[in-house]
Amino acid sequence: MHRTHTCGELTIKDLGAEVTLSGWVAKSRDLGGMTFIDLRDRYGITQLVFNMDDNEQLCAEGRKLGREFVIKITGKVIERSSKNLKIPTGEIEIKISKLEILNAAKTVPFLIEDETDGGDDLRMKYRYLDLRRAVVRKNMELRHKMAHETRNYLSNHKFIEVETPVLIKSTPEGARDFVVPSRMNPGEFYALPQSPQTFKQLLMVSGFDRYFQIVKCFRDEDLRADRQPEFTQIDCEMSFVEQEDILNMFEGLFKHLFKSIKGIDIAEVPRMTYADAMKYYGSDKPDIRFDMKFVELNDVVKGKDFKVFDDAELVVGICAKGCAQYTRKQVDELTDFVKKPQIGATGLVYCRYNEDGTIKSSVDKFYSEEELQKWVSAFGAEKGDLILILAGKADKTRKALNELRLEMGNRLGFRDKNTFAPLWVLDFPLLEFDEESGRWHAMHHPFTSPKPEDIALLETDPGAVRANAYDMVLNGTEIGGGSIRIHNKELQSLMFKHLGFSQEEAHKQFGFLMDAFEFGAPPHGGIAFGFDRLCSLFAGLDTIRDVIAFPKNNSGRDVMIDSPSTIANEQLNELSIAVK
Ligand code: ASP
Repeated sequence: MHRTHTCGELTIKDLGAEVTLSGWVAKSRDLGGMTFIDLRDRYGITQLVFNMDDNEQLCAEGRKLGREFVIKITGKVIERSSKNLKIPTGEIEIKISKLEILNAAKTVPFLIEDETDGGDDLRMKYRYLDLRRAVVRKNMELRHKMAHETRNYLSNHKFIEVETPVLIKSTPEGARDFVVPSRMNPGEFYALPQSPQTFKQLLMVSGFDRYFQIVKCFRDEDLRADRQPEFTQIDCEMSFVEQEDILNMFEGLFKHLFKSIKGIDIAEVPRMTYADAMKYYGSDKPDIRFDMKFVELNDVVKGKDFKVFDDAELVVGICAKGCAQYTRKQVDELTDFVKKPQIGATGLVYCRYNEDGTIKSSVDKFYSEEELQKWVSAFGAEKGDLILILAGKADKTRKALNELRLEMGNRLGFRDKNTFAPLWVLDFPLLEFDEESGRWHAMHHPFTSPKPEDIALLETDPGAVRANAYDMVLNGTEIGGGSIRIHNKELQSLMFKHLGFSQEEAHKQFGFLMDAFEFGAPPHGGIAFGFDRLCSLFAGLDTIRDVIAFPKNNSGRDVMIDSPSTIANEQLNELSIAVK
């Protein structure tokens, strides 16, 4: 028998018991005639004690144990003289009578402790050692619980988990596909699913009514942002539903996860239209942990000979509460921030509403104090506030101001990771114009249904057509999105036509789905949550890598197994592939 207990369970109640434990040597300390060892396993740490006076030979063996040796010991639970009340096993130790080395260990490349000296690359190369660290393992335990609670909630609501294939053909999420050559069909390729979108819709045609799957998806995208080429979704679809049914069901899932995992009661999730999100926050995923809404100033500032404002399509700003006392240096920092190329503003205008009631702006030359008073009123600013204004092309300016707003939120401590502010964003546009290809693209995917009252606009003003599409946003991050689908062939064909597909192209790529719609397709809709992202937000982490057991690096590489890698010529020949 390798163990009677784990390293996390013996307490003062077990005094006197003879026990056997197995685990890793986390640390050892020699103190005069005694040697102490911390024995670690997944469940915790138990202190072992070897005593020179009791058993010289055993003690000598104990002293030779290196870090990360795997050992098995037998001994008696005794009370510790110096207790550690921070851990459950901290009041006891094991007085060893028998020691067996199950496996020795080389010197590990970094410390297996919460605070490690290992850099990122090293930790990824030896990820199996990194995963031994309790802080990293806890993230995986959280992930497990989240998956478990997701399955509980959805099963309780009559969803069934159905696996869909991984070797398929292109799915329409708008990214590049990963492809897999088919040996049996020379010159032909499978694509890995960007999502199970078409399959889950087909399952609705099959009458499955409620489907979900915790599923791997694959998108060959640039990995600049916090993305992974393979990631996990909680993918769901329901029949005979309208948007409201979906929002309620999945708000329920979201609340269940918060309650069961974090013990937090989430109130009703507020809703905002896409149009308002863009107008007031310059983003389709506003962080509503804090207010600081945009105020548009075209009516207030134009016509005073200040060319920058007069020429701008949009003049818009935010009011930072209590920041009027910002120093010149702090304001310069903000100016530098908005001028960074990735933000792209040409400058920043400020206006201080000082505590003494005076108003001072960086454009005093053009605006009298009386006029500035109008700015103050437009923002509802109070004494002590600082107004920050950007001007230029509407879309670009809103985007830049969004960044500035988030930066101010950080500076003012409004973006606390333990505060959770979810939001539904509704009524997304159906289409967006892609300058590069000169074509309209589906903003969500081509199976998303337009709002019935907007269908007529498809011909006249495609950009104005709203979709029955929704996103769930948490703390400024999109965590899920979905739509009510088109479920009849005519509307689906019309959609493909507007997306610039010829009938043949549409048939070649998605004929199977259009055919299915002719055999009695129920009205249906669904949603998918980014499971990695959700886990990382729950864990208060900045990157999804930390909730993935074996993640890839920014070049899409697994440095531990060294993949991707070249393959042998015979393999290439078998696949009828020539590599340049
Ligand atoms: N398949 C969509 C996605 O991956 C989600 C959905 O529409 O249900 O974003």
